[in-house]
Amino acid sequence: MKTKLLLIASLLLFYKVSQAQVRNEINIPDIPGYVTLKGDFHTHSVFSDGRVWPTIRVFEAWRDGLDVIAITDHINYKLFKEDVYNIDENHSYELAKSTADMLGIILINGVEINYEVPPGHLNVLFIKDANLLMQDDIFKTFEEAKNQGAYIQWNHPGYKQTKPIQWFDILTQLHEKGLLDGIEVYTSKSYTPEALAWAQEKNLTITANSDIHFLVDMYHAEMYQRPVTLVFAKNKSAGSVRESLLAGRTAVFFENTIVGKKEFLLQLFEASVKVLEFPLNTKDSILYVQIKNSSDLDFELELLNPVKGTRIPGEITIWANRTTMIKVKTPIRERKDLSLIKVRFNVKNLIVAPNESLEVELPFPGIEPVGSLK
Ligand code: ZN
Repeated sequence: MKTKLLLIASLLLFYKVSQAQVRNEINIPDIPGYVTLKGDFHTHSVFSDGRVWPTIRVFEAWRDGLDVIAITDHINYKLFKEDVYNIDENHSYELAKSTADMLGIILINGVEINYEVPPGHLNVLFIKDANLLMQDDIFKTFEEAKNQGAYIQWNHPGYKQTKPIQWFDILTQLHEKGLLDGIEVYTSKSYTPEALAWAQEKNLTITANSDIHFLVDMYHAEMYQRPVTLVFAKNKSAGSVRESLLAGRTAVFFENTIVGKKEFLLQLFEASVKVLEFPLNTKDSILYVQIKNSSDLDFELELLNPVKGTRIPGEITIWANRTTMIKVKTPIRERKDLSLIKVRFNVKNLIVAPNESLEVELPFPGIEPVGSLK
């Protein structure tokens, strides 16, 4: 009897252990007034040309630390029509929804619509019934999507284009009719700086998405995590994600880089990085400045203004989720004049425009700044 109980207990324990899964949280902080949600708005399942069942996308999203995803099967391209097919275009969403609810993942109903280039592929998100989108006319299709409350974006702008890639007249027409809200600046593994320039010029929302067809691990397990759209939302809900996307409150995170509007990136930097207090009244000529970074991004800093009375390294990496110590040399004979001054840096991997990165200020010991401080 005892052996039997022991056997049952160990079987139960094995069951419990083998069921354990781990979620890798993404540490990108909230900014004032908003929660920073992590999303992927472009993925596929077997109901178009993806190789996985819709629920697998939800489990992957949970494991990868995401808050929100859309499974955006092509409405007009079914690779496995003879093997798996459902006449209802909302089917992948409906199959995955209860799993998403159980895991606390916001699942957005959306589809990808393929056109020949121009314009190529567009995603419509937050739709109510994908079946009504099958219209012959592109404008009617997106008008219907808009009637359902959709957010519409141009996917992978470089698709089937030769360099330099072009913006198309049809996109201008859609945009002028209020039928284009956003653009992917990063898809799968590639960054499109032209898309960032268009986004700024035309006031489009930027996103970064995996466009994953196989398992996420088969593409993004090497050096960096899958690309992530950061959504600055009023709260964690589908409605709030929609409002944020339509209002352009996003940034994108990929390959140890964040791209987005200056105001959001500055707030992210300030919420992530803190210079710990250090003494100014020591008799030593060496001072140690400790900088704590509570985010997943290694910030790559470049000194912009040399500082009188302090020797600061020209390049500093503030490592993710650690405290980085910078050794600075100060002249002893001028020690009495030493005070806390603001030093300007360029954060090379916070991109605010195609050829521009974010400028920040950090407190360092100094006598007076050489060069102007804003
Ligand atoms: Zn796609």
